Amino acid sequence: MEPKFVSPSVIEASNRAAARVRERLGGAKPRYYIETYGCQMNEHDSETFAGQLTQMGYVPAASKQEADLIMFNTCCIREHAELRTFGNVGFVKELKEQNPALITVVCGCMMQQKGVARRLAQRFPFVDMVLGTNELAQFPQFLERVMDGERVLEIKDTDGEIPEGLPIKRNEGFSTFVNIMYGCNNFCSYCIVPYVRGRERSRRAEDIVREVEQAVNDGFTEVTLLGQNVNSYSGFGVTFPELLRMVDKVEGLKRLRFMTSHPKDLSHELVLAMAECKKVCPHIHLPVQSGNNRILALMNRRYTREHYLSLVRDLREFVPWVEITTDIIVGFPTETEEEFEDTVSLVREVGYSAAYSFAYSVREGTKAAAMDGQVPEEVKKSRLQRLNAAINESVVGANDRYIGTRGEILIEGCDRRGEPMMFGKLPSLKMVYVKGDESMIGEYKNVLITGTRFNSLCGEIE
Ligand code: SF4
Repeated sequence: MEPKFVSPSVIEASNRAAARVRERLGGAKPRYYIETYGCQMNEHDSETFAGQLTQMGYVPAASKQEADLIMFNTCCIREHAELRTFGNVGFVKELKEQNPALITVVCGCMMQQKGVARRLAQRFPFVDMVLGTNELAQFPQFLERVMDGERVLEIKDTDGEIPEGLPIKRNEGFSTFVNIMYGCNNFCSYCIVPYVRGRERSRRAEDIVREVEQAVNDGFTEVTLLGQNVNSYSGFGVTFPELLRMVDKVEGLKRLRFMTSHPKDLSHELVLAMAECKKVCPHIHLPVQSGNNRILALMNRRYTREHYLSLVRDLREFVPWVEITTDIIVGFPTETEEEFEDTVSLVREVGYSAAYSFAYSVREGTKAAAMDGQVPEEVKKSRLQRLNAAINESVVGANDRYIGTRGEILIEGCDRRGEPMMFGKLPSLKMVYVKGDESMIGEYKNVLITGTRFNSLCGEIE
């Protein structure tokens, strides 16, 4: 089924509402502060809210204390997320007492979870607006209603329409994200995302290319294409490898990255596109989650250890110097010691350059939450420690092969702990520390790798 788009008339109505708010502010420049939790998807939504607020005449505030509008863009992925978010929203009560004109907005995927928005609105009467993830396009209209004294609570179902043509104010830097799709169809048994972000919807390829061109015009040289599972992107017949080849041609773009890739949908065509496109970086984030087939089946991941390892071989054969990173969950319900050891042996076999490891924790509303055989906390903790030791060994070992090689880094910043060192990433995502000064930030420099640090490299600018 083709995705639906927010109709151009809704976008026009949103622009008109933004103009009315701007007029109403009469040249005043109220300040906004957005606190974003969770993944890059949420960061990207926050950049759109910031674009709309800028369109309405708002300017960024340095802190919540200085702000006239505070927005919490929430996430429900992490453990105890609701507790933490409610705690943070609660702190605003005091600010609201000092400044009754302060506008408070709570939005993001946690608000899509059943009952949460209503609970939040009841508990915090000072919150002026509660929005789900599908209300971005009408934000200016909702803000007008709040300015008229109304309290707004708007949550649509999760399979929202795709908004195109909204303004965006990107976070400063040289690297930025472009969202290529929304939602997820995979229903991994531990994950809440499909319930709060809805079914998979892909943007049109030409809209994505246009957005990348605009980002390059705005000074960004590195773009990461974002989606919960980019490998299943399907923009009106355009596949993800085809999209990569299209974006690779954008003039002025230096580096192209993407995430996240579900192993079950990683095709040889994508491996070839990575190998053949000049700007596509040799890095792939390929979450394995477990190295044991019974646990992978319980997780509903729909691939086996053997299939995953065959993908790794394919990548290593065709994409020179490819770095693979991953996510791993230990202590999934019923996981035995031997099954956990399968994960450790897979980590050793693959040789990841980074791995994000988590002890399984229950997400209410998911299949895994109702499974028997939950693993005791102390067992999960011990497995996590042992897994991390294996990951660290694998990372340190993988770094040695860089010594004596040459590459190009994009200088991102300065590390001031001890002797100040500039740092930047190779295309493979490896971080390299070099001597230099802050005038280099944003520049690409050729380096010779001379040594390793714990999980990074050091080098000299040539
Ligand atoms: S692929 Fe699985 S883990 Fe990733 S967002 Fe979809 S359901 Fe969640």
